[in-house]
Amino acid sequence: MSNASSSSGRAAALRDVVSRTPLLPKAPYPAPTSAYFGANTFGAKQMREKLPKAVYEKLVASIRLGNKLDLEIAPTVAQVIKDWAISRGVTHFTHWFQPQTGLTAEKHDAFLTFDDNREPMESFSGAQLIQSEPDASSFPSGGLRATWEARGYTAWNPASPVFIVESGGVRTLCIPSVFIGYNGEALDEMTPLLRSSDVLSEKAIELLSLLGDKGVQRVYTTLGPEQEYFLIDRGMFSLRPDLVMSGRTLLGAAPSRGQQLEDHYFAGIPERIQACIAEVEHELYKLGVPIITRHNEVAPSQFEMAPMFEETDIAVDHNQLVMATLRKVALRHGLQALLHEKPFAGINGSGKHCNWSMSITSDRPELDGFNLLKPGNTPHQNVRFLLFLAAVLQGVHRHAGLLRAGIASSGNEHRLGANEAPPAIISIFMGRTLTHVIESIAGGKTVGSAEQAMIKLGVAKLPDIEKDNTDRNRTSPFAFTGNKFEFRAVGSSASIAFPVCLLNAAVAESIAELTEALRAELKKTKKVDDAVLKVVRPVFRATRNIRFEGNNYSDEWVKEAERRGLPNLRRTPEALAQLMTTKSRKLLTGLGVFTKEELDSRFHVRMERYVKDMLIEAHTVREMVDTMVLPAGHAYAGTLARAAADAKAAGITAAPQVQAGNDLAKLLAAVQSKRAALGKAIDKAESMHAALEEQAKFCTGTVAFAMHTLRDACDALELAVGDQQWPLPKYREMLFPA
Ligand code: ADP
Ligand code: MG
Repeated sequence: MSNASSSSGRAAALRDVVSRTPLLPKAPYPAPTSAYFGANTFGAKQMREKLPKAVYEKLVASIRLGNKLDLEIAPTVAQVIKDWAISRGVTHFTHWFQPQTGLTAEKHDAFLTFDDNREPMESFSGAQLIQSEPDASSFPSGGLRATWEARGYTAWNPASPVFIVESGGVRTLCIPSVFIGYNGEALDEMTPLLRSSDVLSEKAIELLSLLGDKGVQRVYTTLGPEQEYFLIDRGMFSLRPDLVMSGRTLLGAAPSRGQQLEDHYFAGIPERIQACIAEVEHELYKLGVPIITRHNEVAPSQFEMAPMFEETDIAVDHNQLVMATLRKVALRHGLQALLHEKPFAGINGSGKHCNWSMSITSDRPELDGFNLLKPGNTPHQNVRFLLFLAAVLQGVHRHAGLLRAGIASSGNEHRLGANEAPPAIISIFMGRTLTHVIESIAGGKTVGSAEQAMIKLGVAKLPDIEKDNTDRNRTSPFAFTGNKFEFRAVGSSASIAFPVCLLNAAVAESIAELTEALRAELKKTKKVDDAVLKVVRPVFRATRNIRFEGNNYSDEWVKEAERRGLPNLRRTPEALAQLMTTKSRKLLTGLGVFTKEELDSRFHVRMERYVKDMLIEAHTVREMVDTMVLPAGHAYAGTLARAAADAKAAGITAAPQVQAGNDLAKLLAAVQSKRAALGKAIDKAESMHAALEEQAKFCTGTVAFAMHTLRDACDALELAVGDQQWPLPKYREMLFPA
């Protein structure tokens, strides 16, 4: 029967799920992990063994101190990398970079070449290692570069180890790179991040030197991004055009059971999922990605993996590898990894909690590796801790809107403020103990020397206190967790380069200001530590508004934040507009993190992306309604009509089928009218393409509303149509695989 066949794909997918078994590895993964961790990477350790000492030292200097690579050593380095790669069966190489698509890009070249006698051979030159020229014309540039002047090049970032990707039975050498235009314009996500790291380092070294901490070579930011994601059956996924096209379900009635039993979080990982995650981890270990935790998340079929933190630019590369490996390996297991911020309405979405701090590189062992956001053992270390803390508070307070812009996307719009994720209002959680310290200092309660104050306030004991801080606030978008901040509002699918770049810049600016303030104070106050306390006091006072310890999900907080004058940027276009304010421009161009043109391009690329995402969703839902939802509804209406006719023919007078048919007709009429409204909204939106900002506003308002109301009508219909006739896998089937 035709009705049955329209939903037969779903029936087959349901049968398939039941018959799927965990895909176990052919041989157990090698153990212990440390025996092969990083086997597919060529980093400092391998270079030391293979390179002449002088070459190695030059290379390490550029890696450790963020210097440019010495061109003279490139041929030697390329030679050892080539030998290593070929010994591991690699045939091709690629510069691996991060254009403004949120993903990575690569174009493979063979080592294969031909000598003068046309004999085949392998070659890889220093120039090929350092630089490559992909055709840049089809990457988003936001007007930074017209297609007729599409030249751009990629350049190796030696701080990030080269690595071998195994895929489809071939091995490719990937060279982590930046992507820049011929006039030095940053066309990618990585270049501004590296600039922000450099400027933060420069400013922090200056401040440390003023504090008497000499011999600091670099201050680097550390990053530990916790990645949340969903894994669902691939067969179900393939039957949902919305998931395939946009990464989230645009329709789907809420199941009777969602996450209300709170039984998924930290529960046992199902074996089929465990087999998949283990293979993802195995692949990542080979690539030197230090994944150390795995667990079930709050929503059904939602999981998390987290790495050991690393230096920021490496952590950013590694997070891209985590996302790519998850997507790739899941398919081998008949699963689909969903990295969208909100794949399913009504249950938790996914974030990427970015744990962030600042650490020191120094020849002095007592300073090397020291985390500046960790209280120390001496009064001086604690005063220094408070000073850097003040810099973060001031940076986040002043640039809260900009930080919100950095995490703005169509996906995160569904998550932020949706009552199960941090709201769109940026605030900082400090914890009870530290709040007491900050308020005591702000309130002028610390009389006497800094040393006495530190002892009295007990700052040194903070790490232990914060470690078992049971009242840790999970609702805060930006929380201090003992020795680092956790930027929780970042979206799960995002490239984290951009948000971290903005955070680095905001903090760097504050560090520079505090340096000036301290320099001035030192003219009046002899002892550095005493002077520091005087400098942080007004900062702690001025940033009081950004601190919030309560429930960030509550309605009261929204009102309170408004009273405090904190921005509440709920929609993407208004958030992105923060990139263009005078304050943001001054910060980012002033520090040399972006030029004016580069910043404009970030705004345009993101705004355009938002509009494209919205229109893809709108078109997808319209097509689903026209070709799946309405046909299913009409078919079921026909079934009811025939049943009513049969009843009548049989002389049955009270025919409930008539009532059911009439009820269904009302639901169908509602879908049709909302469908018509969405059609109009799409046409209007598309007619506005010449005015990007207007178009984005229209999408976030009228189009989003039209999609939302159409969804409601469809979801009501889903609950009325006979189950056998519904073509789309239902929420319960995707989230609770049998
Ligand atoms: P929690 O469970 O409280 O969030 P964890 O100790 O599990 O904290 O750490 C979560 C993430 O934070 C991990 O990726 C970890 O490596 C990272 N992290 C720990 N210390 C730092 C730091 N100094 N800088 C950046 N990230 C850090
Ligand atoms: Mg955490």
